Amino acid sequence: MKNTIVVVGGGVAGLSAAQAARKQDGEARILLYHAEPYLPYYRPRVPQLIIGEADPDKIAVKTEQFYRDQNIELIQSPVLAVEDGEVVAGDGSREAYTTLVLATGGESFFPGNIEPEGPVQGLRTVADAYKLQERLCVGDPVIVVGGGLLGLEAATYLKRAGMKVTVLEGESGLLNRQLDEDGSRRLEEEAENFGIAVRLNARVSAVEGHAILLEDGEKLEGAALLFSIGMRANTELARKMGLAVNRAVVVNSAMETSKAGVYAAGDAAEVDGRNYGLFNISMEQGAVAGTNAAGGKAVWQPPVIPYVMQALGVQTFAMGELTGERVQKEDAKGYRALYHREGRIVGAVWVGEKCPMALLRKAVSQNASLAEIQL
Ligand SMILES: Cc1cc2nc3c(=O)[nH]c(=O)nc-3n(C[C@H](O)[C@H](O)[C@H](O)COP(=O)(O)OP(=O)(O)OC[C@H]3O[C@@H](n4cnc5c(N)ncnc54)[C@H](O)[C@@H]3O)c2cc1C
Repeated sequence: MKNTIVVVGGGVAGLSAAQAARKQDGEARILLYHAEPYLPYYRPRVPQLIIGEADPDKIAVKTEQFYRDQNIELIQSPVLAVEDGEVVAGDGSREAYTTLVLATGGESFFPGNIEPEGPVQGLRTVADAYKLQERLCVGDPVIVVGGGLLGLEAATYLKRAGMKVTVLEGESGLLNRQLDEDGSRRLEEEAENFGIAVRLNARVSAVEGHAILLEDGEKLEGAALLFSIGMRANTELARKMGLAVNRAVVVNSAMETSKAGVYAAGDAAEVDGRNYGLFNISMEQGAVAGTNAAGGKAVWQPPVIPYVMQALGVQTFAMGELTGERVQKEDAKGYRALYHREGRIVGAVWVGEKCPMALLRKAVSQNASLAEIQL
């Protein structure tokens, strides 16, 4: 009898799980449940919708034909429950599964009592981008809460759409977890040059109507208050199923959850206590989950991750250890630094033009000699 592999979630993790499952098992019935009313799309391209640079068709990962060719049944309905070995979907259907992959992703995180209503929202889905588009007119002030990769990228698109953008960062520097101090400072200068106001050490205490209240008592008004301070994994189904869940669904390196035959991957999953929230990792984990759900034996290895951002008119790259000995250069083209131990590169930062990302990535992962990179 044919196996039925059910994948819940049509993000990159779910899609790559379905693809990998098909590769592993040409015969199985594969169902991919997707809660959004669009074909599975590239989530990192969602900000492009703000300025009409893309639409859901343009950012779709695959055409409808792909699902037909691969014999993957794409069901555009949310899974509401998993009971007695069956998934129960919002369209009322029930399907029994042999194995199940939870790739339910995550949603924007809001602090304390702040709810995503009125002007308060995140930017994660096509629907979020359209909501912003509808809410805003050229010249409107927008407050972006969060000076991380996604906040700065959203700020860039909002600025390009003609908004007056202020970024609030609770810490003392932009991307301060990814960059070194000089890199953070340079990025702040680039943001200001780009026409975006940056407020550091600005901690949000509450929202009142269209205003954000800071801990120091200051009040900042915006037509939209965009929160970009992280992601919360969608774990509701997993919790209801009684799976082990911390911040996200607990899985091992084979993407197996605490229940046999049930896998999880991507933003919904955590491996060794880490919930990565990154595209390539979600894709890789999805492929491992899908392969194993179809009877294969794949293992996911955590890579050394480079942080990459194209925003504020510059390229930002950070990878590896950013402590110890450093050689650096700063000029009109930007700030570049290599961290090394006895001449072998262990980390790199680049904020500026023409970043040789592939070269830096290779240099850090292979601990190349300093002589190999021209700053
Ligand atoms: C604006 C933005 C920009 C980003 N840029 C980058 C970047 O430059 N580089 C990078 O590495 N990462 C980036 N990321 C992060 C990256 O996009 C995510 O890590 C990745 O998309 C996670 O994929 P996923 O499939 O696990 O989850 P998601 O993309 O969240 O997809 C999960 C899908 O499952 C659906 N779903 C949830 N529950 C159910 C259910 N019960 N039934 C059916 N469907 C369900 C959801 O509707 C969603 O479509 C970005 C994220 C955002 C929001």
